[in-house]
Amino acid sequence: MRRLLIYCSFALLVIPACRAQERAAPDDADSVAVVPVMTDSGAVVMPGAQQHLLLRKDSLWAEALRIHYNAIVFDGHIDTPLLMLDKGYRFGARHRTHESHVDLPRMFDGGLDAAFFSIYVAPFYGEGQRATERARAMMAEVRKQVAAHADSVVLATSAGEVRRLTHKGKKVVLMGLEGGHALAASPEVLRALYDEGIRYVTLTHINTNAWADASQAAPRWNGLNDLGRSLVAEMNRLGMILDLAHVSDSTFYDALAASQAPVLVSHSSVRALVPSVRNVDDAMLRAVARNGGVVMINFFDAMVNPHLDDDVMAELRRRMPGPKLTMMWNELYAIKSARGLPGATLDDVLDHLDHAAKVAGIDHVGLGSDFDGVFDLPDGLQDVTRLPWITYGLLKRGYTEEEIYKILGGNALRVLDEAEAVAQRLQAGSGE
Ligand SMILES: [Zn+2]
Repeated sequence: MRRLLIYCSFALLVIPACRAQERAAPDDADSVAVVPVMTDSGAVVMPGAQQHLLLRKDSLWAEALRIHYNAIVFDGHIDTPLLMLDKGYRFGARHRTHESHVDLPRMFDGGLDAAFFSIYVAPFYGEGQRATERARAMMAEVRKQVAAHADSVVLATSAGEVRRLTHKGKKVVLMGLEGGHALAASPEVLRALYDEGIRYVTLTHINTNAWADASQAAPRWNGLNDLGRSLVAEMNRLGMILDLAHVSDSTFYDALAASQAPVLVSHSSVRALVPSVRNVDDAMLRAVARNGGVVMINFFDAMVNPHLDDDVMAELRRRMPGPKLTMMWNELYAIKSARGLPGATLDDVLDHLDHAAKVAGIDHVGLGSDFDGVFDLPDGLQDVTRLPWITYGLLKRGYTEEEIYKILGGNALRVLDEAEAVAQRLQAGSGE
């Protein structure tokens, strides 16, 4: 509580949120705001002077700040663990925007409550023990750095924990494995990593593995093979969520057909607006909606910049003939620079959220920033402290409070809940 009061003291202008926080004891269900499962009754922690400036610009900011800090804001994909393991990055210390996108102090500033930290294993680790050990080393580093700040951030593995902990004013870190090759094609490794705290597996990274095709590699299985389907079945049984970012379109549909549980697409944007293989088209958006899953919009310039149109993609194909697109981002960046194309803006990200919400429905959209995993972010969305501007933008575009709670985190929490429920059902059915 002391921490909350310290933060409230900064909230000079949007005081009602602070009062709400003081009233709302975590266990007192009656005092929880409008939509209990999607809010944490958090106080506005943005510095008072900054709030004052925003409110002078537009009175709508009072509502935006209240909603944003009240919401459980949940990001589907953050790559900060890579910095933590390889660069000696201290998650608990404050950094500047040009140094990194996420750290603990800036999570408080930006009102980011929970996130899947990506346990990313680069393809060059291969598909065996070396890749699994790399994942474990990164998980150990995340555990260590989170434990060092146990008063303000906690590791979690379920939506229930996220809700409980965020109500207490804690930040919450979950772990997702990026790159199915780190499973070493083994259901035993899958089970072990689940037990060690991993809660989603991005089936592929840019590399096709022994059981699934990736979007940036030559097709080998034309989707999932039998081993892939058996691993999906085991993921469902465990409650390990399938993440379909990075997979080829055929893997995407095979995985949806095989999965009994809703999926996440943890960091992909919309192909109708930027025709990249890393984005999802409208049919895929509808397929995720039918599955009950969520597409979490990536902020990376190369995936949301409307100037990267069909013409640019045609030049990319000329420069990179064939299906191997491993260096795609560098090449796109070179084309963008050569043509003098402007960078993406926050508004472009809102366009992607808007499009996904219109096509898939409001229950199937979320945020998957890819912070600290990308080198080029939109103007106005340069780091985690800018998340309140997304809420303001959604409000300005006419989204209701409840709809905003869904996009910011409520939808993702629902997928976690449902994956757990499916696992319980499957385990009960098999007599375990
Ligand atoms: Zn990725």
